[in-house]
Amino acid sequence: MESHQLQFSDDATCDENLCLAVKILNNYLLVESFSFIFKTNYHIDFEISKKKLNEIKILYASHEKKDKDADYLAWTDRCLDPKIIFINQIFRQRLDYLKNGHKKTKKKETEIIVVFFSFLLIHELGHLLLRWKGELNSPTTFGEAGFFLENKLFGGTVQLLIIPSKDWSVNSECIGIAINKPLGYKELDAKILSYQKYIHKIYNMTLSFDIYVNPVYLKKPIEKGARAMKQADEEVEIEEQHADYITLESLGILKCGLQKH
Ligand SMILES: [Zn+2]
Repeated sequence: MESHQLQFSDDATCDENLCLAVKILNNYLLVESFSFIFKTNYHIDFEISKKKLNEIKILYASHEKKDKDADYLAWTDRCLDPKIIFINQIFRQRLDYLKNGHKKTKKKETEIIVVFFSFLLIHELGHLLLRWKGELNSPTTFGEAGFFLENKLFGGTVQLLIIPSKDWSVNSECIGIAINKPLGYKELDAKILSYQKYIHKIYNMTLSFDIYVNPVYLKKPIEKGARAMKQADEEVEIEEQHADYITLESLGILKCGLQKH
């Protein structure tokens, strides 16, 4: 029978951390929810998508942002057949810093960043599957296609928590990953993924498959002074998305990734 499981190529990257993120992502892609959404919402041709995905490479790159641009965490060229997913090189700088430094918490932060990479790749895949069908822009029924996929899988959009809240750079510490619940949920439902029970197990690949899209959350609020960064790669549509989502700003948290025009 024809397989409905998409997988990134083992040759997608030669970077150690990105390679690990690809392995993690390929585990996610084995979860049935993914192929179900790809089939029923995206209506993809699995054979075409498998072939295209197998050719995708992942590279670090710098994002030259203009004055008030949001930081792009990951992105692709805006064309129907992009071959590369770019990851912002600030992440590589931070991972190098953690590797070479003597910071006690470096193992935990490295794992958080690598697992977050797999979420970024899921977001980009949400766009690529449409591009490969000839749709350059996210359809209006989806909103922003990357967030659409995140919402379908996790019931909210994925955000990286950093401190301090100002200017993301190599000096920003990545302290966790949160899921921002869509409208209709109470503010406190913006939740942090458990490091011990979810992120660490995802990283070690010891998590059972039924937990992948049913994450374990911490029962504590996001700490004050943290910034929740969400993926930005399609400015035009992200603004539309803004009105549909509770923002973490109501929790006293600054958020980037939403560009105001
Ligand atoms: Zn996007």
